Amino acid sequence: MTSVHYSTPIVDIDEIGNGNHLYMKRDDMIPFSFGGNKARKAEYFFREVDAGDYDCIVTYGSSSSNHCRVVANQAAKRGLPCYIIGPEEASEPTYNHLLMEWFGAETMTVPVNEVHDTIEAKLEALRAEGKHPYFIAGGGHGNLGTRAYIDCYSEIVQYEKETGIHFDKIFFASGTGTTHAGLVCGKFLFPRKKDTEIIGISIARKNPRGRQVVLDSIKEYFDSLGVKLGEEEVEQATIFLDRYTGDGYAGSSEAVQEVIYRVMTKYGIPLDHTYTGKAFYGMERYLEEEEVRGENILFIHTGGTPLFFDELFGARMAEEARRGEAEE
Ligand SMILES: *Cc1c(COP(=O)(O)O)cnc(C)c1O
Repeated sequence: MTSVHYSTPIVDIDEIGNGNHLYMKRDDMIPFSFGGNKARKAEYFFREVDAGDYDCIVTYGSSSSNHCRVVANQAAKRGLPCYIIGPEEASEPTYNHLLMEWFGAETMTVPVNEVHDTIEAKLEALRAEGKHPYFIAGGGHGNLGTRAYIDCYSEIVQYEKETGIHFDKIFFASGTGTTHAGLVCGKFLFPRKKDTEIIGISIARKNPRGRQVVLDSIKEYFDSLGVKLGEEEVEQATIFLDRYTGDGYAGSSEAVQEVIYRVMTKYGIPLDHTYTGKAFYGMERYLEEEEVRGENILFIHTGGTPLFFDELFGARMAEEARRGEAEE
């Protein structure tokens, strides 16, 4: 399969902290369905859909899932039925959910511990009807998702070659781990003289499991190529920071809200409270805590723009509720 190259812009943002220089790779500007890392990954999954004789799509994720929104959009584009299974525990109304419904996806929620069996049952039922479903794991997890972020890394290397700028550190939000795995694989596939540290800011998972999932994905990808890497080498290259997770997928602290407001007012770039805002906050804290100086820093904006609007709307509703109480 040939690669999908987007070459999303890398923009020069500002000086941050102690003489560090911040750049941002705008994967939120991938030109499909509000972009983001799920749009980058979905491109590969839907190439497989187009190459096969699939007639419907099955995936899973919460009501705020960027992955499910992009998949529902890709399915609608092809006129394919799309079935989305989600956990009841994370089914609040969101813009992503509105979009999924608008695209005609059929969403069903079950208690989180029944998600796995419900997916199996749905696939069974569709096959029993003579259908040929294409299944995509939550978050676009798997080798194709990893592959998508190897592409991203190669775009970064290309930019470095063209400009002579070397990135000392790359930060981004790490969730299900394939974005992270792809970047680390890229580092091995496109080696350079000067090191680049790839630092995933965990949005929910804790170590050691969070890091292990990334390591497993890296191994799975290289196994598929028939390449064996030194375990120690891979472990060293996989930096998974779990100290800024806040409330995980449920949201974030006031400090993160301050970051979101500041980045939007100063640079006009929307972040969200689950992924990119938290990762940006984690990056700033890390640079300060580790006393990083004089480095070139790249932040990968992994998308999630509809979540920015959820936050904006939620903040407005909370404000109105407060005012209402004050008047009573
Ligand atoms: C899913 C997501 C992530 C995390 O990506 P993973 O590949 O699941 O680790 C980061 N940012 C945004 C906006 C996302 O939607």
